Amino acid sequence: MTVRLPIVQNEAEPAPAPRKRHPDWLRVPMPGGDGYQALRRMVKELGLHTVCQSASCPNIGECWNHRALTIMILGDICTRSCRFCDVATGRPLPVDHGEPARVATMLAALELNHTVITSVDRDDLPDGGAGIWAETLHACHAAAPDMTIEVLVPDFKGDLADVDTVLDAGPDVFAHNLETVPRLSREVRVQARYDRSFAVLRRARERGALVKTGLMLGLGEEPAEVREVIDQLAALGLTILTLGQYLQPSKKHLPVQRYVHPDEFAELKRHALAAGIVHVESGPLVRSSYHAEGQAELIRRLQAGAGKIGFASLRPPAA
Ligand code: SF4
Repeated sequence: MTVRLPIVQNEAEPAPAPRKRHPDWLRVPMPGGDGYQALRRMVKELGLHTVCQSASCPNIGECWNHRALTIMILGDICTRSCRFCDVATGRPLPVDHGEPARVATMLAALELNHTVITSVDRDDLPDGGAGIWAETLHACHAAAPDMTIEVLVPDFKGDLADVDTVLDAGPDVFAHNLETVPRLSREVRVQARYDRSFAVLRRARERGALVKTGLMLGLGEEPAEVREVIDQLAALGLTILTLGQYLQPSKKHLPVQRYVHPDEFAELKRHALAAGIVHVESGPLVRSSYHAEGQAELIRRLQAGAGKIGFASLRPPAA
């Protein structure tokens, strides 16, 4: 016979607040399909990592079936412990110097028009991993010269020489995420600083790069604060902005304060475009690399008109 015991709550330890149910606009099907499975096999065989998997991205089924993935270099263990992020924190493994070639092999085999590469934070390395970033870019340019590449980089602890190392290797888009508004930055990105991140974006823009950033909404920010950040970014000359809903990866992470309605995302997009940002992806499921492959055409157009609108081609001449 099964005896059902009453569930007793220890008064000294209040139960964690129940996680909010996702509204309908955030429901996505379980990932599956031939394209998804093929990419999974390939990533595994080459011993690579993707932020799509490490960050438990809800779009993985959709993206991977369109052969859109975001490779994560420099391992899969991050030296930081941002309170929104599902990537593992700890002491990373030594740098894998074969990784740039394997990344290039995979991306060339996929015959992509455009891709996004990101990395964990490597505060344990003297250059923050900038050297491996440059090697990876050079290898990818050589293996797939027509593929445009967006780099989504860490803040390199604000060391602009490291930022320059990445820029010198010729990314087509230079991205670094502010993630949230200044007031919440310390709480959300414990070891980062808003002003330092902004300085990284400024350096890239001053070098003539096409610059991109992203914010998560639903962490407790006020709409007016978001609009203020957008205006600052527009004044900086930001080209691409992403706005998406923060989702709590586990109970250990920051709770969702609010599910932002799709209409509010649409309103913020209108505000950003009116402020002068060229391209805005704004919606509940938007992530910094979501639909990035669709931006390849825009990137080529902007690069073609580089002189007129203040962009420089950062690509080093082919050897
Ligand atoms: S949105 Fe970005 S991180 Fe998420 S699955 Fe797509 S490519 Fe990967």
